[in-house]
Amino acid sequence: MSTEAERARPAVLLNPIEGDPTDADSHIGGPMLWPIDEPWPSCDGATHDPASGAEPFVGAVQLYRRDFPELPFPEGTDLLQVFLCTLHHDVPRAYGPDVRLVWRDSTTVFELIEEEPEPSVQEELYVPTVNVLEPIRFAEHAEKVSGGTKIGGWTAWWQSGPAEFACPECGSEQRQTLSLATHEPSGDNVEWEFGREGNLNVFTCAEDVRHSIAVHVD
Ligand SMILES: [Zn+2]
Ligand SMILES: [Zn+2]
Repeated sequence: MSTEAERARPAVLLNPIEGDPTDADSHIGGPMLWPIDEPWPSCDGATHDPASGAEPFVGAVQLYRRDFPELPFPEGTDLLQVFLCTLHHDVPRAYGPDVRLVWRDSTTVFELIEEEPEPSVQEELYVPTVNVLEPIRFAEHAEKVSGGTKIGGWTAWWQSGPAEFACPECGSEQRQTLSLATHEPSGDNVEWEFGREGNLNVFTCAEDVRHSIAVHVD
């Protein structure tokens, strides 16, 4: 691979715009495709700041393979669901919401959960508005990094320097998979805020995206 190719990574700006998506759509902040017979994800609250009890995660993003084939879907899955625990978590490098990823086979979901559980308390900062997505595909160069909500590409480092993450389960490199942004290039912000008007970056294992993720708020 040439140096040029190494410096340019495929990236997709999600480009959210206000809309009214269903659970069958890719979206931010809309209804999740969640089966009635599967427990809704919850956060045990161990790192909440201030300390508080367990709370359900909130459906934040879902991305279908048909819309975002660039994502590293494990075999047999066609839907990435991203959940946030919308409270402050006192975690090094990731002071903000906790993140849970679910890689799902949407074709096996028949009966949906009737009502998504709602946390008893949330930080408004971390609660998204409801958006549909009009993705913009591009090759992102390491020297010209977009700060918008995107998949793939490079990390936009604002307040901290570049960091590398290794998978705690297998030692493989963790790569940036998803970045949620305070500010969108379009100006149509999702109205959540991470860090000091920065980004919440999610890194996944290059060998197996179901291994533990790394979250970095910058
Ligand atoms: Zn939590
Ligand atoms: Zn791993």
